[in-house]
Amino acid sequence: MTRLIIASNRLPVVIDKDENGMRVSPSAGGLATGLKSYHKQNDSVWIGWPGIIPASENEETEVTSLLEKEQCLPVFMNEELISNYYDGFSNATLWPLFHYFTEFAKFSETYWNAYKKVNELFAETIIQNAKENDSVWVHDYQLLLVPNILRQRRPDLKIGFFLHIPFPSYEIIRILPWREEIVEGILGADLIGFHTYDYARHFISSVKRLIGYEVEFNQIKLENRQVYVDVFPMGIDYKKFEKIALEVQSKPIQERSKEHQDIDRFLMSAPGRKLILSIDRLDYTKGIPHRLKAFRYFLKAHPEYKEIVSLIMLTVPSRTDVEQYQNLKNEVDVLVGNINGEFGTLNWNPVIYFYRSMPLENLVELYSSAEVALLTPLRDGMNLVAKEYIASKVQQKGVLILSEMAGASKELGEALTVNPSNIHDTADAIFQALTMSDEERTKAMRAMQKRIKRYDVQKWAEDFMETLAETIEKQSAYHARKISPTIKNTIYNDFKKAKSKMLFLDYDGTLQRFFDNPQAATPDKALYDLLDKLSKKKNNRVVLVSGRDRETFDRWFGSKSYTLIAEHGAWIKEPGQGWKERKPVHSEWKEIILPVLESYVDRTPGSLIEEKTYSLVWHYRKADIELGALRALELVHDVSTLIINQDLEIMEGKKVVEVKVSGINKGNASSEFLHSHQTEFILAIGDDWTDEFLFRELPESAHTIKVGSENSVAKYSLNNYQEVRSFLNEMCN
Ligand code: UDP
Repeated sequence: MTRLIIASNRLPVVIDKDENGMRVSPSAGGLATGLKSYHKQNDSVWIGWPGIIPASENEETEVTSLLEKEQCLPVFMNEELISNYYDGFSNATLWPLFHYFTEFAKFSETYWNAYKKVNELFAETIIQNAKENDSVWVHDYQLLLVPNILRQRRPDLKIGFFLHIPFPSYEIIRILPWREEIVEGILGADLIGFHTYDYARHFISSVKRLIGYEVEFNQIKLENRQVYVDVFPMGIDYKKFEKIALEVQSKPIQERSKEHQDIDRFLMSAPGRKLILSIDRLDYTKGIPHRLKAFRYFLKAHPEYKEIVSLIMLTVPSRTDVEQYQNLKNEVDVLVGNINGEFGTLNWNPVIYFYRSMPLENLVELYSSAEVALLTPLRDGMNLVAKEYIASKVQQKGVLILSEMAGASKELGEALTVNPSNIHDTADAIFQALTMSDEERTKAMRAMQKRIKRYDVQKWAEDFMETLAETIEKQSAYHARKISPTIKNTIYNDFKKAKSKMLFLDYDGTLQRFFDNPQAATPDKALYDLLDKLSKKKNNRVVLVSGRDRETFDRWFGSKSYTLIAEHGAWIKEPGQGWKERKPVHSEWKEIILPVLESYVDRTPGSLIEEKTYSLVWHYRKADIELGALRALELVHDVSTLIINQDLEIMEGKKVVEVKVSGINKGNASSEFLHSHQTEFILAIGDDWTDEFLFRELPESAHTIKVGSENSVAKYSLNNYQEVRSFLNEMCN
């Protein structure tokens, strides 16, 4: 097991102070349970806010030493920071935005600055306490910038990040004024975890659209490393709920808690009495008014359930000094009052409403007594209450009605799922739940229990940590290829000693960065100087090998003393000579293919066609990133059927699809050239998969370098074109 540092806004313990002094008590959350075994290791530590603002330095020391015994470390904040970072940016900006309540999201520079500052404080505390190569697991929306701060300052650390709330669609995240910083902040991690595939997919789409990184399946390709995104639906401490449920149910009635006896009395006071239960924090994301309206509609539609069924609603006070929460409280109070006023009798209240929190035992009593759980959030990252209800139903006599907007609905397919905004639909589901046969509900409950018992919170944490370790292993295969100072020196020495040398250099992405418009990638002065310097080296030949058309290459480099190989090897030009074609041109095929490409240009705004002697190229770098990728797949499919039995092939490059005469590639062009110019030292550098032909066909003794973090047959790698330039510059000197 690796040594782990956990960071979350709140610690697994809370400290409070009364007249008798300070007290440490465990906090209720499932996260603490899941991470217990990692946290218990001797030197692991949990970093977070202790929930108290010390009044003096002495108190600060006292809090720190109390926490030390719990293997926790505090991040202290003053009132102003808490107000702007926690109440402000976390709960008044990110929370509403990530839950699709855009109208509630406040954008304030003051909040943002406090958020950055607190994220710095957390990162600093982690850095001070992390040993080399430790693993760090950062949690949730309050700490989105921490992974990247760690990455910048401590690249040795293994960094995992988990988001416990939804990650919204790009259309929502794009509203945030600091959207790039937030996405880059998360990308500092090696592994990023979400509850559901939808959240992961939204994150990946935002990365592509906001920052433009390439993505392959769940792998985001940053310039110098890869980040993995995966789905880990958080579970609960299943056995704990099961055990308490068995205990509370097996107690004789007179030994039960007062609350439990009250429930028993309610259920026995009339034949057929039933309870529908809901438990949530009083938050606008939880859809409480919608639920009440659905219940009112149900009572109207099914008067036979009057004096039979009650909705017992436990709402836990939350963020009570925020205006939206106060408004919601008022709305809920009024709705409950209206329903009870309209339908209630001397013997019966349709809605039994609690506005407080309850101890775990009482929660389980409610779970195990309720015939139906009605959980209807408008948005919810997961909804653990749904899973707790299932775990507490030890006799399988219960039905779960769950909003399709809750992350948990993805795993709990046997629940009755509803769109919480559709009140009629929800009312129908209540009726269906109450009339379901024993057989049906037992079958559904068993299936759900089996699933969430297996993937409990412990398994969730283990799964994440194991995936993080695997991710690091995959990364290290890539890092092993990175050019180290020793390798660099070996190559430089070989270069110096060799009597004849040849450098095969790709152009776009290798010597120059990518531009939206390919024609804008004209060589700059520094590049000309570098290439001139290289080609003037004694017995050295510079060969530029590119997919570019020969006209462009001629304009840029025609008068230079470099050898030019253009159009992926179709044309070759030696210094001071004219262009030679390697294969006779045939171009009648273009008449068939061109109209197809044109139809793709019409249907894909931003895309364009480039015509070369041997090929037609469809460029989509400027098109919408996802539409472009989709159309590229379609295009490849359409064209492949047209080129059967023709001497043509399709090549997919970076944001291009090229249809070209077959049998020509950078590899065979370069090796042919090499045959007639025997050379002692060979170096090849390229970034695209078309350069793989080059790497593959060169003799084993050649030094081959891939630019970027993707897989390659090249021996070594560099991060980007700037690194290539400085590598070559150094070699010259
Ligand atoms: N809970 C609690 N006391 C209460 C009511 C609820 O400790 O009086 C717990 C409940 O057991 C669950 C958590 O609060 O574990 C709520 O988690 P959920 O994912 O449903 O919603 P969140 O509040 O995190 O949005």
